Amino acid sequence: MSEATSSLHIFNSLSGKKELFTPIEEKHVGMYVCGPTVYSNVHLGNCRTFISFDLVYRYLKHLGYSVRYVRNITDAGHLEHDADEGEDRISKKARLERIEPMEVVQRYTVDFHQTLAAFNTLPPNIEPTATGHIVEQIEIVKGILDSGLGYEVNGSVYFDVQKYNESNNYGILSGRKLEDMIHNTRSLSGQSDKRSPQDFALWKKAEPQHIMRWPSPWGDGFPGWHLECTAMSTKYLGEQFDIHGGGMDLKFPHHECEIAQAEALNQKSPVHTWMHANMLTLNGKKMAKSTGNNILPNELFSGSNPVLSKAFSPDVARFFMLQAHYRSILDLSSDALEAAEKGYKRLIQGIELLADLPISNKSSADVNMHINGYYDAMNDDFNSPILIAQLFDTVKLIHRVKQGEDTLTKSDVEKLHKAVHHFVIDVLGLTLASDQNEDTYLDKALSVLIDMREQARANKDFATADRIRDELLAKGIHLKDGKDGTTYGLSS
Ligand code: AMP
Ligand code: ZN
Repeated sequence: MSEATSSLHIFNSLSGKKELFTPIEEKHVGMYVCGPTVYSNVHLGNCRTFISFDLVYRYLKHLGYSVRYVRNITDAGHLEHDADEGEDRISKKARLERIEPMEVVQRYTVDFHQTLAAFNTLPPNIEPTATGHIVEQIEIVKGILDSGLGYEVNGSVYFDVQKYNESNNYGILSGRKLEDMIHNTRSLSGQSDKRSPQDFALWKKAEPQHIMRWPSPWGDGFPGWHLECTAMSTKYLGEQFDIHGGGMDLKFPHHECEIAQAEALNQKSPVHTWMHANMLTLNGKKMAKSTGNNILPNELFSGSNPVLSKAFSPDVARFFMLQAHYRSILDLSSDALEAAEKGYKRLIQGIELLADLPISNKSSADVNMHINGYYDAMNDDFNSPILIAQLFDTVKLIHRVKQGEDTLTKSDVEKLHKAVHHFVIDVLGLTLASDQNEDTYLDKALSVLIDMREQARANKDFATADRIRDELLAKGIHLKDGKDGTTYGLSS
Protein backbone atom coordinates (compact mmCIF):
# COMPACT_ATOMS: atom_id res chain seq x y z
CA MET A 1 0.00 0.00 0.00
CA SER A 2 1.60 3.29 -1.07
CA GLU A 3 1.85 6.38 1.07
CA ALA A 4 -0.77 8.22 -0.96
CA THR A 5 -3.24 5.42 -0.33
CA SER A 6 -2.53 4.79 3.34
CA SER A 7 -3.75 8.04 4.82
CA LEU A 8 -7.43 7.27 4.99
CA HIS A 9 -9.21 9.19 7.72
CA ILE A 10 -12.69 8.17 8.84
CA PHE A 11 -15.09 10.05 11.08
CA ASN A 12 -15.66 7.78 14.05
CA SER A 13 -19.07 8.40 15.65
CA LEU A 14 -17.70 6.94 18.88
CA SER A 15 -15.01 9.62 19.32
CA GLY A 16 -16.75 12.33 17.30
CA LYS A 17 -13.51 12.88 15.38
CA LYS A 18 -11.87 12.01 12.09
CA GLU A 19 -9.24 9.39 12.81
CA LEU A 20 -6.46 7.81 10.78
CA PHE A 21 -7.80 4.40 9.81
CA THR A 22 -5.58 1.56 11.00
CA PRO A 23 -7.10 -1.89 10.65
CA ILE A 24 -6.71 -4.41 13.47
CA GLU A 25 -5.07 -6.84 11.11
CA GLU A 26 -2.79 -5.35 8.47
CA LYS A 27 -4.32 -5.26 4.95
CA HIS A 28 -7.60 -6.81 6.20
CA VAL A 29 -10.80 -5.02 7.09
CA GLY A 30 -13.85 -6.45 8.83
CA MET A 31 -16.96 -4.37 8.17
CA TYR A 32 -20.50 -4.97 9.43
CA VAL A 33 -23.48 -2.97 8.19
CA CYS A 34 -27.02 -3.31 9.55
CA GLY A 35 -29.23 -4.56 6.73
CA PRO A 36 -32.93 -4.10 6.07
CA THR A 37 -35.93 -5.42 7.94
CA VAL A 38 -37.58 -7.29 5.10
CA TYR A 39 -41.26 -6.57 5.65
CA SER A 40 -41.83 -4.12 2.78
CA ASN A 41 -40.14 -2.71 -0.32
CA VAL A 42 -36.98 -0.72 0.33
CA HIS A 43 -37.41 3.02 -0.34
CA LEU A 44 -34.83 5.44 -1.67
CA GLY A 45 -33.83 6.46 1.87
CA ASN A 46 -32.78 2.88 2.68
CA CYS A 47 -30.98 2.76 -0.66
CA ARG A 48 -28.97 5.88 0.19
CA THR A 49 -27.54 4.23 3.31
CA PHE A 50 -26.59 1.08 1.42
CA ILE A 51 -25.06 3.13 -1.41
CA SER A 52 -23.04 5.10 1.18
CA PHE A 53 -21.55 1.88 2.54
CA ASP A 54 -21.07 0.52 -0.96
CA LEU A 55 -18.83 3.55 -1.58
CA VAL A 56 -16.89 2.73 1.60
CA TYR A 57 -16.53 -0.92 0.59
CA ARG A 58 -15.46 -0.05 -2.95
CA TYR A 59 -12.86 2.46 -1.83
CA LEU A 60 -11.37 0.11 0.78
CA LYS A 61 -11.05 -2.53 -1.94
CA HIS A 62 -9.54 0.03 -4.31
CA LEU A 63 -6.91 0.81 -1.66
CA GLY A 64 -5.95 -2.86 -1.74
CA TYR A 65 -7.55 -4.06 1.50
CA SER A 66 -9.02 -7.50 1.66
CA VAL A 67 -12.44 -6.68 3.06
CA ARG A 68 -14.92 -9.02 4.69
CA TYR A 69 -18.20 -7.16 4.37
CA VAL A 70 -21.07 -8.60 6.39
CA ARG A 71 -24.58 -7.16 6.00
CA ASN A 72 -27.45 -8.90 7.71
CA ILE A 73 -31.08 -9.44 6.83
CA THR A 74 -33.45 -8.81 9.73
CA ASP A 75 -36.13 -11.42 9.27
CA ALA A 76 -37.29 -11.72 12.89
CA GLY A 77 -37.24 -9.83 16.17
CA HIS A 78 -37.78 -6.24 14.95
CA LEU A 79 -40.95 -5.09 16.68
CA GLU A 80 -43.20 -2.28 15.52
CA HIS A 81 -42.00 0.09 18.22
CA ASP A 82 -38.34 0.27 19.12
CA ALA A 83 -39.03 0.02 22.88
CA ASP A 84 -39.70 -3.73 22.73
CA GLU A 85 -43.41 -3.19 22.20
CA GLY A 86 -45.91 -4.16 19.52
CA GLU A 87 -46.06 -6.96 17.02
CA ASP A 88 -43.11 -8.34 15.04
CA ARG A 89 -43.06 -6.35 11.77
CA ILE A 90 -42.80 -9.46 9.61
CA SER A 91 -45.44 -11.42 11.53
CA LYS A 92 -47.82 -8.49 11.25
CA LYS A 93 -47.42 -8.27 7.47
CA ALA A 94 -47.87 -12.06 7.22
CA ARG A 95 -51.05 -11.90 9.32
CA LEU A 96 -52.51 -9.01 7.29
CA GLU A 97 -51.76 -10.65 3.95
CA ARG A 98 -52.58 -14.18 5.17
CA ILE A 99 -49.27 -15.57 4.00
CA GLU A 100 -46.36 -17.29 5.74
CA PRO A 101 -43.83 -14.99 7.47
CA MET A 102 -41.10 -16.61 5.37
CA GLU A 103 -43.08 -15.66 2.25
CA VAL A 104 -42.92 -12.03 3.38
CA VAL A 105 -39.20 -12.41 4.02
CA GLN A 106 -38.56 -14.01 0.63
CA ARG A 107 -40.56 -11.41 -1.31
CA TYR A 108 -38.84 -8.41 0.21
CA THR A 109 -35.38 -9.94 0.29
CA VAL A 110 -35.67 -10.48 -3.46
CA ASP A 111 -36.87 -6.88 -3.90
CA PHE A 112 -33.94 -5.65 -1.81
CA HIS A 113 -31.40 -7.59 -3.87
CA GLN A 114 -32.89 -6.52 -7.20
CA THR A 115 -33.00 -2.89 -6.15
CA LEU A 116 -29.44 -2.80 -4.88
CA ALA A 117 -28.26 -4.56 -8.04
CA ALA A 118 -30.02 -1.87 -10.12
CA PHE A 119 -28.02 0.71 -8.18
CA ASN A 120 -24.86 -1.26 -8.98
CA THR A 121 -23.96 -1.92 -5.35
CA LEU A 122 -21.62 -4.83 -4.73
CA PRO A 123 -23.04 -7.74 -2.74
CA PRO A 124 -21.57 -8.28 0.73
CA ASN A 125 -19.32 -11.28 1.37
CA ILE A 126 -21.72 -12.71 3.93
CA GLU A 127 -25.42 -11.90 4.26
CA PRO A 128 -26.58 -13.71 7.40
CA THR A 129 -30.19 -13.78 8.62
CA ALA A 130 -31.49 -13.42 12.16
CA THR A 131 -33.57 -16.59 11.88
CA GLY A 132 -30.48 -18.51 10.75
CA HIS A 133 -28.64 -17.54 13.95
CA ILE A 134 -31.12 -18.30 16.74
CA VAL A 135 -28.72 -20.77 18.39
CA GLU A 136 -25.93 -18.17 18.49
CA GLN A 137 -28.32 -15.59 19.91
CA ILE A 138 -29.47 -17.93 22.69
CA GLU A 139 -25.82 -18.53 23.59
CA ILE A 140 -25.26 -14.79 23.91
CA VAL A 141 -28.30 -14.41 26.18
CA LYS A 142 -26.91 -17.19 28.39
CA GLY A 143 -23.53 -15.42 28.49
CA ILE A 144 -25.11 -12.10 29.49
CA LEU A 145 -27.15 -13.84 32.21
CA ASP A 146 -23.90 -15.40 33.48
CA SER A 147 -22.28 -11.96 33.59
CA GLY A 148 -25.03 -10.83 35.96
CA LEU A 149 -26.19 -8.07 33.59
CA GLY A 150 -29.32 -9.86 32.39
CA TYR A 151 -32.40 -11.03 34.29
CA GLU A 152 -35.23 -13.37 33.45
CA VAL A 153 -38.88 -12.59 34.12
CA ASN A 154 -41.80 -14.75 32.98
CA GLY A 155 -39.99 -16.34 30.05
CA SER A 156 -38.39 -13.09 28.82
CA VAL A 157 -34.82 -11.96 29.42
CA TYR A 158 -33.86 -8.28 29.74
CA PHE A 159 -30.60 -6.37 29.88
CA ASP A 160 -30.12 -4.46 33.13
CA VAL A 161 -29.03 -1.05 31.84
CA GLN A 162 -28.61 0.62 35.25
CA LYS A 163 -26.42 -2.16 36.57
CA TYR A 164 -24.34 -2.08 33.37
CA ASN A 165 -23.94 1.67 33.70
CA GLU A 166 -22.35 1.29 37.15
CA SER A 167 -19.14 0.03 35.55
CA ASN A 168 -19.67 1.04 31.90
CA ASN A 169 -21.07 3.99 30.01
CA TYR A 170 -24.50 3.37 28.51
CA GLY A 171 -24.62 6.36 26.14
CA ILE A 172 -20.99 6.19 25.04
CA LEU A 173 -21.99 6.22 21.35
CA SER A 174 -25.08 8.41 21.32
CA GLY A 175 -23.82 10.89 23.90
CA ARG A 176 -26.99 10.40 25.96
CA LYS A 177 -26.86 10.28 29.73
CA LEU A 178 -28.69 7.55 31.60
CA GLU A 179 -29.88 9.99 34.32
CA ASP A 180 -31.50 12.18 31.63
CA MET A 181 -33.12 9.15 30.03
CA ILE A 182 -34.52 8.09 33.41
CA HIS A 183 -35.70 11.63 34.11
CA ASN A 184 -37.45 11.92 30.73
CA THR A 185 -39.31 8.59 30.63
CA ARG A 186 -42.59 7.81 32.20
CA SER A 187 -42.55 5.00 34.73
CA LEU A 188 -43.58 1.57 33.51
CA SER A 189 -47.16 0.44 33.50
CA GLY A 190 -47.83 -2.40 35.92
CA GLN A 191 -47.96 -4.80 32.99
CA SER A 192 -44.31 -4.58 32.03
CA ASP A 193 -41.86 -7.21 33.18
CA LYS A 194 -38.92 -4.82 32.93
CA ARG A 195 -37.27 -3.53 36.10
CA SER A 196 -36.71 -0.18 34.45
CA PRO A 197 -37.96 1.40 31.18
CA GLN A 198 -34.37 1.75 29.90
CA ASP A 199 -33.80 -2.02 30.02
CA PHE A 200 -34.08 -3.76 26.67
CA ALA A 201 -35.17 -7.24 25.65
CA LEU A 202 -32.60 -9.91 24.87
CA TRP A 203 -35.23 -12.60 24.54
CA LYS A 204 -39.01 -12.17 24.49
CA LYS A 205 -41.57 -14.73 25.48
CA ALA A 206 -43.88 -15.54 22.54
CA GLU A 207 -47.56 -15.10 23.30
CA PRO A 208 -49.74 -17.94 21.92
CA GLN A 209 -50.69 -15.91 18.80
CA HIS A 210 -47.06 -15.05 17.97
CA ILE A 211 -46.18 -17.11 14.87
CA MET A 212 -42.39 -16.64 14.78
CA ARG A 213 -41.20 -18.59 17.83
CA TRP A 214 -38.28 -20.79 18.84
CA PRO A 215 -37.68 -23.03 21.87
CA SER A 216 -35.15 -21.70 24.41
CA PRO A 217 -34.08 -22.40 28.01
CA TRP A 218 -36.68 -19.75 29.00
CA GLY A 219 -39.57 -21.23 27.00
CA ASP A 220 -40.82 -20.49 23.47
CA GLY A 221 -39.86 -17.02 22.32
CA PHE A 222 -37.90 -14.89 19.90
CA PRO A 223 -34.72 -12.78 20.08
CA GLY A 224 -34.61 -9.07 20.86
CA TRP A 225 -33.79 -6.92 17.83
CA HIS A 226 -30.35 -5.75 18.97
CA LEU A 227 -29.14 -9.25 19.67
CA GLU A 228 -28.88 -10.50 16.09
CA CYS A 229 -26.26 -7.94 15.09
CA THR A 230 -24.07 -8.79 18.10
CA ALA A 231 -24.41 -12.51 17.31
CA MET A 232 -23.68 -12.23 13.59
CA SER A 233 -20.92 -9.61 13.75
CA THR A 234 -19.09 -11.57 16.46
CA LYS A 235 -19.50 -14.85 14.62
CA TYR A 236 -18.14 -13.61 11.29
CA LEU A 237 -15.80 -10.78 12.30
CA GLY A 238 -14.70 -11.62 15.83
CA GLU A 239 -15.10 -9.99 19.24
CA GLN A 240 -13.43 -6.83 17.94
CA PHE A 241 -13.62 -5.65 14.36
CA ASP A 242 -12.83 -2.58 12.30
CA ILE A 243 -15.98 -0.88 11.01
CA HIS A 244 -19.64 -1.01 11.97
CA GLY A 245 -22.07 1.02 9.91
CA GLY A 246 -25.73 1.84 9.63
CA GLY A 247 -28.09 4.75 9.20
CA MET A 248 -27.89 7.62 11.70
CA ASP A 249 -31.28 6.59 13.12
CA LEU A 250 -29.78 3.31 14.34
CA LYS A 251 -27.23 4.98 16.63
CA PHE A 252 -29.70 4.87 19.50
CA PRO A 253 -30.96 2.54 20.80
CA HIS A 254 -29.80 -0.17 18.36
CA HIS A 255 -26.05 0.42 18.25
CA GLU A 256 -25.82 1.63 21.85
CA CYS A 257 -27.41 -1.68 22.89
CA GLU A 258 -25.07 -3.65 20.64
CA ILE A 259 -22.10 -2.10 22.46
CA ALA A 260 -23.63 -2.89 25.86
CA GLN A 261 -24.31 -6.52 24.90
CA ALA A 262 -20.79 -7.06 23.57
CA GLU A 263 -19.17 -5.36 26.59
CA ALA A 264 -21.24 -7.50 28.96
CA LEU A 265 -20.20 -10.62 27.09
CA ASN A 266 -16.55 -9.99 26.26
CA GLN A 267 -15.54 -7.01 28.42
CA LYS A 268 -14.28 -5.15 25.40
CA SER A 269 -15.55 -2.56 23.00
CA PRO A 270 -16.63 -4.49 19.89
CA VAL A 271 -15.97 -1.91 17.18
CA HIS A 272 -13.05 0.40 16.38
CA THR A 273 -14.82 2.74 13.95
CA TRP A 274 -18.55 3.40 14.09
CA MET A 275 -19.86 5.01 10.92
CA HIS A 276 -23.32 6.54 10.51
CA ALA A 277 -24.82 7.57 7.20
CA ASN A 278 -27.20 10.48 7.18
CA MET A 279 -30.81 10.53 6.05
CA LEU A 280 -32.42 11.10 2.69
CA THR A 281 -35.35 13.46 3.12
CA LEU A 282 -38.37 14.30 1.00
CA ASN A 283 -40.02 17.69 1.50
CA GLY A 284 -37.55 18.23 4.34
CA LYS A 285 -38.75 15.18 6.27
CA LYS A 286 -37.01 11.84 6.71
CA MET A 287 -38.07 9.27 4.14
CA ALA A 288 -39.70 6.46 6.07
CA LYS A 289 -41.77 3.40 5.45
CA SER A 290 -44.07 4.08 8.37
CA THR A 291 -45.13 7.66 7.47
CA GLY A 292 -45.59 7.07 3.74
CA ASN A 293 -43.19 9.98 3.06
CA ASN A 294 -41.09 8.05 0.61
CA ILE A 295 -40.36 7.25 -3.02
CA LEU A 296 -39.76 3.68 -4.15
CA PRO A 297 -36.91 2.94 -6.55
CA ASN A 298 -39.31 1.68 -9.23
CA GLU A 299 -41.28 4.91 -9.04
CA LEU A 300 -38.04 6.75 -9.69
CA PHE A 301 -37.00 4.57 -12.61
CA SER A 302 -40.44 4.92 -14.22
CA GLY A 303 -41.12 8.51 -13.16
CA SER A 304 -44.51 7.41 -11.81
CA ASN A 305 -44.35 9.23 -8.47
CA PRO A 306 -46.18 12.61 -8.71
CA VAL A 307 -43.22 14.34 -7.03
CA LEU A 308 -41.09 13.57 -10.10
CA SER A 309 -41.20 15.45 -13.42
CA LYS A 310 -39.79 12.45 -15.31
CA ALA A 311 -38.03 9.10 -14.96
CA PHE A 312 -34.44 8.97 -13.72
CA SER A 313 -31.93 6.19 -14.27
CA PRO A 314 -30.30 4.35 -11.33
CA ASP A 315 -26.94 5.83 -12.40
CA VAL A 316 -28.30 9.37 -12.15
CA ALA A 317 -29.87 8.65 -8.76
CA ARG A 318 -26.59 7.18 -7.53
CA PHE A 319 -24.66 10.18 -8.85
CA PHE A 320 -27.18 12.49 -7.15
CA MET A 321 -26.65 10.74 -3.82
CA LEU A 322 -22.86 10.70 -4.12
CA GLN A 323 -22.80 14.43 -4.84
CA ALA A 324 -23.61 14.84 -1.13
CA HIS A 325 -21.29 13.65 1.64
CA TYR A 326 -22.59 10.56 3.40
CA ARG A 327 -22.77 12.40 6.74
CA SER A 328 -24.93 15.25 5.35
CA ILE A 329 -28.68 15.21 5.09
CA LEU A 330 -29.81 15.14 1.46
CA ASP A 331 -33.20 16.33 0.27
CA LEU A 332 -34.59 14.69 -2.83
CA SER A 333 -36.53 16.74 -5.36
CA SER A 334 -37.20 16.55 -9.06
CA ASP A 335 -35.16 19.73 -9.68
CA ALA A 336 -32.17 18.34 -7.79
CA LEU A 337 -32.37 15.10 -9.77
CA GLU A 338 -32.58 17.00 -13.07
CA ALA A 339 -29.50 19.03 -12.13
CA ALA A 340 -27.68 15.80 -11.23
CA GLU A 341 -28.68 14.30 -14.58
CA LYS A 342 -27.18 17.24 -16.48
CA GLY A 343 -24.00 17.07 -14.41
CA TYR A 344 -23.69 13.34 -14.88
CA LYS A 345 -24.02 13.64 -18.66
CA ARG A 346 -21.37 16.36 -18.70
CA LEU A 347 -19.07 14.04 -16.75
CA ILE A 348 -19.67 11.09 -19.10
CA GLN A 349 -19.11 13.22 -22.20
CA GLY A 350 -15.85 14.55 -20.79
CA ILE A 351 -14.65 11.07 -19.92
CA GLU A 352 -15.53 9.76 -23.36
CA LEU A 353 -13.26 12.38 -24.92
CA LEU A 354 -10.31 10.86 -23.07
CA ALA A 355 -10.30 7.95 -25.51
CA ASP A 356 -9.02 10.06 -28.40
CA LEU A 357 -7.38 13.18 -27.09
CA PRO A 358 -4.68 14.81 -29.22
CA ILE A 359 -1.23 13.67 -28.05
CA SER A 360 1.75 16.01 -27.57
CA ASN A 361 5.44 15.64 -26.75
CA LYS A 362 5.10 17.66 -23.59
CA SER A 363 2.41 18.03 -20.94
CA SER A 364 1.43 21.55 -19.99
CA ALA A 365 -0.72 20.29 -17.09
CA ASP A 366 0.15 18.12 -14.08
CA VAL A 367 -2.02 14.98 -14.21
CA ASN A 368 -0.60 13.73 -10.89
CA MET A 369 -2.10 16.77 -9.24
CA HIS A 370 -5.52 15.72 -10.54
CA ILE A 371 -5.07 12.08 -9.46
CA ASN A 372 -3.77 13.02 -6.01
CA GLY A 373 -6.82 15.22 -5.67
CA TYR A 374 -9.06 12.17 -6.09
CA TYR A 375 -7.20 10.31 -3.34
CA ASP A 376 -7.14 13.33 -1.03
CA ALA A 377 -10.91 13.68 -1.38
CA MET A 378 -11.64 10.03 -0.64
CA ASN A 379 -9.03 9.79 2.11
CA ASP A 380 -10.85 12.62 3.85
CA ASP A 381 -13.72 10.53 5.21
CA PHE A 382 -14.91 9.31 1.79
CA ASN A 383 -15.65 12.81 0.53
CA SER A 384 -17.40 11.89 -2.71
CA PRO A 385 -18.71 15.43 -3.47
CA ILE A 386 -15.13 16.73 -3.46
CA LEU A 387 -14.04 13.77 -5.60
CA ILE A 388 -16.79 14.61 -8.12
CA ALA A 389 -15.73 18.29 -8.11
CA GLN A 390 -12.14 17.16 -8.82
CA LEU A 391 -13.39 14.98 -11.68
CA PHE A 392 -15.15 18.00 -13.16
CA ASP A 393 -11.84 19.88 -12.96
CA THR A 394 -10.31 17.04 -14.96
CA VAL A 395 -13.16 17.30 -17.48
CA LYS A 396 -12.25 20.99 -17.92
CA LEU A 397 -8.65 19.96 -18.58
CA ILE A 398 -9.82 17.36 -21.10
CA HIS A 399 -11.79 20.03 -22.97
CA ARG A 400 -8.78 22.38 -22.91
CA VAL A 401 -6.57 19.64 -24.36
CA LYS A 402 -9.20 18.91 -26.98
CA GLN A 403 -9.31 22.62 -27.91
CA GLY A 404 -5.49 22.79 -28.02
CA GLU A 405 -5.31 25.15 -25.04
CA ASP A 406 -3.38 22.58 -22.98
CA THR A 407 -1.25 19.59 -23.95
CA LEU A 408 -0.70 16.07 -22.59
CA THR A 409 1.76 13.33 -23.48
CA LYS A 410 0.59 9.85 -24.39
CA SER A 411 1.62 8.40 -21.04
CA ASP A 412 -0.14 11.23 -19.14
CA VAL A 413 -3.34 10.68 -21.13
CA GLU A 414 -3.15 6.96 -20.36
CA LYS A 415 -2.48 7.59 -16.69
CA LEU A 416 -5.40 9.99 -16.44
CA HIS A 417 -7.65 7.64 -18.39
CA LYS A 418 -6.88 4.79 -16.00
CA ALA A 419 -7.32 6.86 -12.84
CA VAL A 420 -10.57 8.47 -13.98
CA HIS A 421 -12.02 5.09 -14.87
CA HIS A 422 -10.93 3.61 -11.53
CA PHE A 423 -12.55 6.39 -9.60
CA VAL A 424 -15.73 6.74 -11.63
CA ILE A 425 -16.45 3.07 -12.30
CA ASP A 426 -14.76 1.16 -9.46
CA VAL A 427 -15.03 3.66 -6.61
CA LEU A 428 -18.14 5.73 -7.33
CA GLY A 429 -19.77 2.65 -8.87
CA LEU A 430 -21.21 4.53 -11.85
CA THR A 431 -21.76 2.32 -14.85
CA LEU A 432 -21.47 5.05 -17.51
CA ALA A 433 -23.77 2.81 -19.51
CA SER A 434 -27.36 3.72 -18.85
CA ASP A 435 -27.39 7.02 -20.72
CA GLN A 436 -25.10 6.05 -23.52
CA ASN A 437 -27.75 5.13 -26.07
CA GLU A 438 -29.45 8.42 -25.54
CA ASP A 439 -26.09 10.20 -25.88
CA THR A 440 -25.25 8.38 -29.09
CA TYR A 441 -28.52 9.58 -30.60
CA LEU A 442 -27.86 13.06 -29.29
CA ASP A 443 -24.36 12.93 -30.79
CA LYS A 444 -25.75 11.83 -34.14
CA ALA A 445 -28.50 14.48 -34.18
CA LEU A 446 -26.03 17.20 -33.24
CA SER A 447 -23.48 16.20 -35.82
CA VAL A 448 -26.23 16.66 -38.46
CA LEU A 449 -26.95 20.16 -37.10
CA ILE A 450 -23.25 21.02 -36.85
CA ASP A 451 -22.75 19.96 -40.49
CA MET A 452 -25.74 22.06 -41.58
CA ARG A 453 -24.26 25.06 -39.76
CA GLU A 454 -20.89 24.49 -41.44
CA GLN A 455 -22.64 24.32 -44.78
CA ALA A 456 -24.56 27.53 -44.07
CA ARG A 457 -21.36 29.33 -43.11
CA ALA A 458 -19.60 28.07 -46.22
CA ASN A 459 -22.51 29.53 -48.22
CA LYS A 460 -22.19 32.82 -46.27
CA ASP A 461 -25.71 32.21 -44.91
CA PHE A 462 -24.75 33.53 -41.48
CA ALA A 463 -28.37 34.07 -40.44
CA THR A 464 -29.08 30.29 -40.62
CA ALA A 465 -25.74 29.42 -39.01
CA ASP A 466 -26.40 31.77 -36.08
CA ARG A 467 -29.97 30.57 -35.75
CA ILE A 468 -28.81 26.96 -35.33
CA ARG A 469 -26.28 28.04 -32.69
CA ASP A 470 -28.70 30.33 -30.79
CA GLU A 471 -31.63 27.93 -30.78
CA LEU A 472 -29.45 25.12 -29.49
CA LEU A 473 -28.09 27.44 -26.82
CA ALA A 474 -31.63 28.29 -25.75
CA LYS A 475 -32.14 24.53 -25.22
CA GLY A 476 -29.01 24.27 -23.07
CA ILE A 477 -26.65 22.96 -25.76
CA HIS A 478 -23.70 25.20 -26.56
CA LEU A 479 -21.56 24.81 -29.67
CA LYS A 480 -17.87 25.43 -29.40
CA ASP A 481 -15.74 26.20 -32.44
CA GLY A 482 -12.22 24.87 -32.04
CA LYS A 483 -9.15 24.15 -34.13
CA ASP A 484 -10.36 20.63 -34.88
CA GLY A 485 -13.95 21.55 -35.64
CA THR A 486 -17.09 22.19 -33.63
CA THR A 487 -18.01 20.28 -30.47
CA TYR A 488 -20.97 20.66 -28.19
CA GLY A 489 -21.51 20.78 -24.46
CA LEU A 490 -24.52 20.78 -22.19
CA SER A 491 -24.93 23.76 -19.88
CA SER A 492 -26.03 22.94 -16.37
P1 AMP B 1 -34.80 -0.67 8.13
O1 AMP B 1 -35.19 -1.63 7.06
O2 AMP B 1 -35.90 0.25 8.55
O3 AMP B 1 -34.15 -1.38 9.30
O4 AMP B 1 -33.69 0.30 7.49
C1 AMP B 1 -32.58 -0.16 6.77
C2 AMP B 1 -31.50 0.89 6.73
O5 AMP B 1 -31.97 2.07 6.06
C3 AMP B 1 -31.03 1.35 8.12
O6 AMP B 1 -29.61 1.48 8.12
C4 AMP B 1 -31.67 2.72 8.27
O7 AMP B 1 -30.92 3.55 9.11
C5 AMP B 1 -31.66 3.22 6.84
N1 AMP B 1 -32.65 4.27 6.58
C6 AMP B 1 -33.97 4.28 6.90
N2 AMP B 1 -34.56 5.44 6.49
C7 AMP B 1 -33.60 6.16 5.87
C8 AMP B 1 -33.56 7.45 5.22
N3 AMP B 1 -34.64 8.21 5.11
N4 AMP B 1 -32.38 7.87 4.71
C9 AMP B 1 -31.26 7.11 4.80
N5 AMP B 1 -31.22 5.89 5.39
C10 AMP B 1 -32.37 5.42 5.93
ZN1 ZN C 1 -28.03 -3.99 13.38
